[in-house]
Amino acid sequence: MRIDIVSIFPGYFESLGLSLLGRASQKGLIDVRVHDLRDAAHDRHRTVDDTPAGGGAGMVMKPEPWGEMLDGILASDDADPDPVIIFPSPAGEVFDQRMARELAEERHLVFGCGRYEGIDHRVFDEYSARGRVRLVSIGDYVLNGGEVATIAMIEAIGRLVPGVVGNPASLVEESHEEDGLLEYPSYTKPAQWRGHAVPPVLLSGNHAAVDAWRREQRIERTREVRPELLPPELRGASRGRHAAD
Ligand code: SAM
Repeated sequence: MRIDIVSIFPGYFESLGLSLLGRASQKGLIDVRVHDLRDAAHDRHRTVDDTPAGGGAGMVMKPEPWGEMLDGILASDDADPDPVIIFPSPAGEVFDQRMARELAEERHLVFGCGRYEGIDHRVFDEYSARGRVRLVSIGDYVLNGGEVATIAMIEAIGRLVPGVVGNPASLVEESHEEDGLLEYPSYTKPAQWRGHAVPPVLLSGNHAAVDAWRREQRIERTREVRPELLPPELRGASRGRHAAD
């Protein structure tokens, strides 16, 4: 998968060279290219923002540098003919695991990181008319810029690209996968720590009992923390958090 990122703070993306995504880049599974938007701003101060049309507080990102930068990326030799351009925005559709799965199937993603009050809306209009554009929020709060949102999305998408996570089985039982329930609590050794015990069923060697306990925990945890995620058939009365201990 090719991923282009446009930002006025390219340094944010050094973290993508670490850990699993860093290894994925080394193996050629993910090809991340970071572009400094100011390279497409040609005045002496490399200006990318201006005052808002209609007045008001803050500054808005000018369309010209965005147009030049995105045109260059879309016209580059190995660009996909139909990439998805994602503009992180608190006013966008909300990113979730379903969207991460969908985007993990793509060959080419382009992320455009806004700053200030955001990007001149004509940039979205221009590229929506030419291809696939999505405004995507990572949650109902406002960040200073699209960089952190882009890193969060790339991490969620990248780990679903085949080969990035060594053991694909570890992707299956996670929160928000399969049936949408949250994951069960995890434990490791020692069996006792500061008076807290690993639930005995997990040390029983009885795989059926472990599976039943984990399923129960997933349902109860989801009921407590995110009841709106429970499928309708599970929305009945709680059976108690440790009912299967
Ligand atoms: N004035 C904008 C509004 O109220 O919708 C907020 C602009 S915000 C200060 C600057 C940039 O941060 C946005 O253009 C976007 O790229 C990014 N951003 C802020 N919050 C975000 C969120 N929840 N999800 C995704 N991107 C976000």
